Amino acid sequence: MSKFLTPDKIRHEYGLEIKEKLIPDGSKYKPNRKLMRGKVEYITIHNTADIDEAEGTNDAEQYARATLNGNMGGVSVHYYIDETDCWQLLREDEMGYHAADGFGPGNGTSLAIEIIMKGDKSKDDKAAEDRGALLAAILLRKHGLAITRLKTHRDWYPKKYCPAYILPHWNDFVKRVMDYTHAMDHPGDVDMDGKATTKDARLALRAAIGLQKLTGPQALAADMDGDGKVTTKDARAILKLSVGGK
Ligand SMILES: [Zn+2]
Repeated sequence: MSKFLTPDKIRHEYGLEIKEKLIPDGSKYKPNRKLMRGKVEYITIHNTADIDEAEGTNDAEQYARATLNGNMGGVSVHYYIDETDCWQLLREDEMGYHAADGFGPGNGTSLAIEIIMKGDKSKDDKAAEDRGALLAAILLRKHGLAITRLKTHRDWYPKKYCPAYILPHWNDFVKRVMDYTHAMDHPGDVDMDGKATTKDARLALRAAIGLQKLTGPQALAADMDGDGKVTTKDARAILKLSVGGK
């Protein structure tokens, strides 16, 4: 038997692989309460520190496992995400313990994303943050929430400087989340000008053959067939869409 967690379910949303291992109902490691008004009203962003990894696993799995084993000091979040992995521990209709406000609005109305970073501006940190932005966009869109519903832990609990690594450039993070929601709403619009044109097809083609580097949101807009890669097939699909006048 592996000493690492095995997910109960794996799903993909906008190319993001999410592993589900829910804290069992009745467990003392979660509130066992539904969200305050029976619906998701906010998304809360947190940062936690990168930890040394055992051979064969990663940070997100280690945090998820620590939560299920009762080693997180009573903290429970909906999602842990790092540069390669994403684990879901709570359903999207239930409260966690993450905002340090008891049964207040932070815990009571929001879903928690814990983005695992080092704070060293490394490639891994940028990737973790980018994936966190994608997950935030997925959740905002799924629950019909405007960008103003994206909150920091500090918004609920001013004494806590969290998400510590993202707060210094919070507006950039918000912009990245908005770009992701734009890409979801405008497939094919690689240059993000609001419509899919032959110019976008050309950008996708150049990316497909390695002549152009795309941002995460641009790559999502370009990935027409949702297979997680930008290929010449995607470029063709964008071209078709653009000449169809849509
Ligand atoms: Zn926090």
